[in-house]
Amino acid sequence: MPGPSLLILAGDGIGPEVMAETRRVIDWFASRRGLAFAVAEDLVGGAAIDAHGVPLADATMAAAAAADAVLLGAVGGPKWDALPFARKPERGLLRLRKEMDLFANLRPAVCFAALAEASTLKPEVIAGLDIVIVRELTSGVYFGTPRGIVTEGGERVGINTQRYSEGEIARVARAAFALARQRSRRVCSMEKANVMESGVLWREVVQAVHDAEFADVALSHMYADAGAMQLVRAPRQFDVIVTDNLFGDILSDLAAMLTGSIGMLPSASLGARMANGRTKALYEPVHGSAPDIAGRGLANPLAAILSFAMALRYSFDRGDEASRLERAVERVLAAGIRTGDLLALGGRTPVGTAAMGDAVLAELEAGLAAG
Ligand code: NAD
Repeated sequence: MPGPSLLILAGDGIGPEVMAETRRVIDWFASRRGLAFAVAEDLVGGAAIDAHGVPLADATMAAAAAADAVLLGAVGGPKWDALPFARKPERGLLRLRKEMDLFANLRPAVCFAALAEASTLKPEVIAGLDIVIVRELTSGVYFGTPRGIVTEGGERVGINTQRYSEGEIARVARAAFALARQRSRRVCSMEKANVMESGVLWREVVQAVHDAEFADVALSHMYADAGAMQLVRAPRQFDVIVTDNLFGDILSDLAAMLTGSIGMLPSASLGARMANGRTKALYEPVHGSAPDIAGRGLANPLAAILSFAMALRYSFDRGDEASRLERAVERVLAAGIRTGDLLALGGRTPVGTAAMGDAVLAELEAGLAAG
């Protein structure tokens, strides 16, 4: 019987390079751990424009909507920069997010021990950090109306509107609580209820969802500005943080960059539950297509590989195998193996994309041998 379906959309630039290494890791789990996925590969972004004239073909969109999980590399590049906005590679990614209705964006901030010295924070503050920021992704001030630049009383006024419905808050809160149940069962909700009505409603709804459905999870509330300070002062006090689109945009970048290079950062975007009980999900590295190093075998594949670890944990309920993969990455870093982007973070052996993939596979094997 074929296993759960996994659609790989490698995209452009370094996307295919990092996804090739991720595919080797997926195949390792199939052959060595019996985790058989029905894997399909398709085009997105500039690659899809070159083949089909559009950044995401309808058939690809349908396959993504039906897949148990989608793994994306990166899209974009100078070759397609001059295209009109509606046909740019990035529109393929936006269409995926919109039509899959991916309203919860998960950005982990994990500090691997070998990289703790390289953080801008002191090692004793950052070592062992393992938190996830859940950002609402499809509503809030980036989408609310009225919006625009109007002229009032002889001068221009820029307008954006923060707007959240109870349903929009409740569904992202549920995603955060469900995530916390797979971790340390602690959620901190961040808003500005002291100065924003949308923040008052946010706090009320998050509390109500908690009390009705997730009383086993510890919930705290914090103003987002205080949260930013606490993330820098004592980040390990958190487990899961849930917040709106704007605050989440800022706080997730802040938290992620405490821990190292963009080549290390995975992410997940989750949507509604499907008929088979799984949640619609897209996993992707935070980085882009890196045209400056594309095609040279230099890219760090760890963000893409760690995105697959997130898929194992959050789509396929295999936290045990996700941890196995993360431990292998930890050991690779501990051995001093670094791609170019990590060299500034200290290390002995500069390697390319495929050699980093080799190192992860070798550590996975070594982990099996060690039992
Ligand atoms: P980028 O993330 O592609 O690159 C920023 C810098 O980080 C570059 O110097 C790059 O070499 C380096 N870098 C990124 N990923 C790396 C990796 N895995 N290993 C080693 N070094 C890495 O961002 P950018 O330069 O602003 O954008 C380049 C293109 O990517 C643009 O077309 C942009 O629109 C697109 N983009 C796509 C996504 C996405 O697909 N989700 C996200 C951001 C940017």
